Amino acid sequence: MYHQPVLKNRRTLLERAEKFISDVYFTDCNLRGRLYGESCPLDSLSSFMSPKRMPLMEAQTQSFTPYKVGDTFGPTWWTCWFKATLKIPECWRGKEVHVLWESDGEAMVWRDGQPVQGLTKEGEKMSYILSDCLTEEEPLSMTIYVEMACNGLFGAGRGSMIAAPDLSRKFSVQKAELVVFNRDVRELMTDFEMLIDIVKELGEGEQRSYQALFTVNEMVNVSDPTDPSSFSKARSLAHKFFSQRNGQSQHTVHAMGHCHIDSAWLWPYEETIRKCARSWVTVIRLMEKNPEFVFTCSQAQQFEWVKCWYPGLFSEIQHYVKTGQFIPVGGTWVEMDGNLPSGESMVRQFLEGQRFFEQEFGMRCKEFWLPDTFGYSAQLPQIMQGCGISNFLTQKLSWNLVNNYPHSTFFWEGLDGSKVLTHFPPGNSYGMEGKVEDLVKTVKQNKDKGRANHSAVLFGFGDGGGGPTQLMMDRLKRVQDTDGLPKVQMSSPDKLFSQLWADSHLLCTWAGELFLELHNGTYTTQAQIKQGNRQCETLLHDIEMASSLALCRNTTFQYPVVRLRELWRLLLLNQFHDVIPGTCIEMVVEDALRYYEDIIRSGAALLQDGLSALVLNGDATGVFNSLPWERLEVIQIQDGPSKHGLALVQVPSIGVSLIQETKPVTPVCITVQEDGSVLMENGTIRTVVNKDGTLASLYLITASREAVSVGCCGNQFVLFDDVPLYWDAWDVMDYHLQTRRPVLEVVQPAHVLSSHELRGSVSFTLKISDKSTVTQEIVMDAMCPFIKFNTQVHWAESHKFLKVEFPVRVHSPNATYEIQFGHLQRPTHRNTSWDWARFEVWGHRWADLSEHNFGVALLNDCKYGYSVFKNTMTLSLLRAPKTPDGNADMGTHHFTYAVMPHTGTFQDAAVIQCAYNLNFPLRLTQCSVDMAPWSAFSVSPAAVILETVKQAEDRKGALMVRMYEAYGGHVTATLHTTLPVREAWHCDLLEKIDATQPAHVTADGITLDFTPFQVRSLLVIF
Ligand SMILES: [Zn+2]
Repeated sequence: MYHQPVLKNRRTLLERAEKFISDVYFTDCNLRGRLYGESCPLDSLSSFMSPKRMPLMEAQTQSFTPYKVGDTFGPTWWTCWFKATLKIPECWRGKEVHVLWESDGEAMVWRDGQPVQGLTKEGEKMSYILSDCLTEEEPLSMTIYVEMACNGLFGAGRGSMIAAPDLSRKFSVQKAELVVFNRDVRELMTDFEMLIDIVKELGEGEQRSYQALFTVNEMVNVSDPTDPSSFSKARSLAHKFFSQRNGQSQHTVHAMGHCHIDSAWLWPYEETIRKCARSWVTVIRLMEKNPEFVFTCSQAQQFEWVKCWYPGLFSEIQHYVKTGQFIPVGGTWVEMDGNLPSGESMVRQFLEGQRFFEQEFGMRCKEFWLPDTFGYSAQLPQIMQGCGISNFLTQKLSWNLVNNYPHSTFFWEGLDGSKVLTHFPPGNSYGMEGKVEDLVKTVKQNKDKGRANHSAVLFGFGDGGGGPTQLMMDRLKRVQDTDGLPKVQMSSPDKLFSQLWADSHLLCTWAGELFLELHNGTYTTQAQIKQGNRQCETLLHDIEMASSLALCRNTTFQYPVVRLRELWRLLLLNQFHDVIPGTCIEMVVEDALRYYEDIIRSGAALLQDGLSALVLNGDATGVFNSLPWERLEVIQIQDGPSKHGLALVQVPSIGVSLIQETKPVTPVCITVQEDGSVLMENGTIRTVVNKDGTLASLYLITASREAVSVGCCGNQFVLFDDVPLYWDAWDVMDYHLQTRRPVLEVVQPAHVLSSHELRGSVSFTLKISDKSTVTQEIVMDAMCPFIKFNTQVHWAESHKFLKVEFPVRVHSPNATYEIQFGHLQRPTHRNTSWDWARFEVWGHRWADLSEHNFGVALLNDCKYGYSVFKNTMTLSLLRAPKTPDGNADMGTHHFTYAVMPHTGTFQDAAVIQCAYNLNFPLRLTQCSVDMAPWSAFSVSPAAVILETVKQAEDRKGALMVRMYEAYGGHVTATLHTTLPVREAWHCDLLEKIDATQPAHVTADGITLDFTPFQVRSLLVIF
């Protein structure tokens, strides 16, 4: 029988229990005050500082000087190594002994040459467990090392988390001592905490809340903090409450340990390597003590880092992968951005990831895992399915600023109709703590009540790493089946998704992209990173193409497998979801740009190797076309036949030819008009450039159609104030649109820069502000259906957004944007909240606005942010956020965009091909004078694009050829090749052959059927 409370006073009973475990009040007489028993100082503590991160072996040889607790050290990003000698009192045998370590920074404990545990105050890990129960055999004296990184879990932001790092921060150790840890006090406190939380979370409307209240009150009555023998009575009261079971229909929570580690964000890549080790070694310690503990871990790159830098830890991880406790998830190289990487890049994320998991752990991931990126491409379901993945987990759409996403568990249908089962943990977090609140939220916020009765709870500190704690697990263990709370089981993604699949008949389907209504500035921030990504994607494509052809034509050629893999992995790493979006600190930007430079430098050499092996060397200049259609283009040549260094060349599809100058049907003609404007025409397009660089007219001669809207000008630069609510580098808010200011001040008016029959150009300079200018060269080439705008911006703004507008004479409710392996449409109006929430959207190389039989396309070579409202097409160019990188985007930028008016549909007008042409320059190479034009591959009809040719992963000498249907229709296509194909097989995106599907090879080529936006891969054997 419980003691009868004197009054019917819920508040006093609850607060009484809270004070009984408070770490602030009454610790002299409450339970919390008894958590630690005796203590004794460390025998000695010494330290040394280093600006670089070094292995233990090197650190041990340094000279350590005595360290006094409280002394400060630093600055930020340095490492302080501590050497501690310990002497445990003999009388502590039989007790649980900890080193209590309270400090700033993130630390790793090393013992006997091995990393043994992470220590981070922010991650609630402040004691290193020396022994659970000190036995007679265990030594009383030892030396440990503590490697302290001078940064917090979330870096070292000055004043706020996302502010640029405070580079002069000082750190200190506040406590370092040996203590006896009273496990029985900890256990009883956990009972108290859970019951108190049940009282609070279930609230006054639930009778279970009152049952918990009276239980916890009685527990205070029977507990005497000074007498541990009294604890068992209190614990059995708690146990009785926890073991009152649920009915059969209760929701089931699948608890999985997790630790989100951003591969770089508010800290550099190098620190992430140590974050992984600190977090995962702690996970291994928890696994040793909790055989049921399951931990999910994504990103092959992070495993690769640990394999390389902490081989001992890696083999422990391999062991626990075998036991099924340490579960690699996601299947990708890193948790990449879900919008910006190209289709091929996304395939490579999975290819590199899944192959790594297969090689190191003998398994492939069955789920895609991307809890924290800023939107998800409509092409992802097909790419997942092609990589052996049918399940997807994220939660980021809970961050939507405008619309509440309607589902928690649903089928996500991609652009081509592929479907994957998708789960958003309803608690809207990937870093829960196993508290009652997490469980209650998960049930309450499940948007598919009655449809899906299973949900994930991912517990463990995350973003900066850290991971789960014993306490989190102890909380969850108590309430596995407790009436009033969901059932809790330690689970795995596989178990969760199996349950969801088993009962999926009532689930809804969401078709198309998962657009995040937030963080829309990430399509534009850190323009150089975006440019590096695009250029490197293009370069790697060309290297693979040239090397593959060289392999077929030159028996001595060695395909650069190893080097290409290294370069791909660098590119994939920079596609991490805080790097390519531009939401990282300056140090990370510097690393990322250096990686792009590495790729470009090494890649240029590899490309030349491939090209040299492909053609016979000689004194003539040849041209290589890596795209699957014939091209007729004006190119710049060094010592060409023309004195301008220009030539109009014709190059066959995926092939080479000598430079043989072709005469244009209509030469380019440039005329300065009386009012100072410049008229440019090439037989296809006629445009009038005003003195301020805007286009007064853009006329499609072949269709007799004006493309510029009545009373407007094209190519209008506009500047906006760009002050978001909080997430500076991330967000551009709707209200920025109210601050539009055209850039009108002319520094140098439009003037003719060159006037040649093959190329005419006009240049001008505008003042954006006192600090920034834009200089542009408007280029018209002969035989070219678009006009290029080569742009240079000196940019020194603060919280401004630069865009360029083209108001066009086109009326349509939808605009079309290129995405990975296809395109999709988004509205040009703001009818509903779902429409206006997309005021700033992403796209790849082109966007198009078309009405019946006429349209205008905007092409670009390194931009991703667009908006089309009514008839104004806008390309986002540069932002100027100040956090987390105080110098983001400052400096000089070079980029190119183009405008292309056309008749018919954008498909028929070859907008897609033109955007490819703009991005993939024809490449020059030395060759013999008698080289005949040669084409390796072509595809008909044009709706199917041959995207990638590379050496097959598992079959030297064989090629993997990837194509996709780009127009959005069913089609039968033929891949023509001049290479001697022996056989060809359909394969998946991981290059696994489908033995039931030999491809149909005829003298004409290989015939394949495509559904709209389908991606198909072939393994071709010669
Ligand atoms: Zn993240």
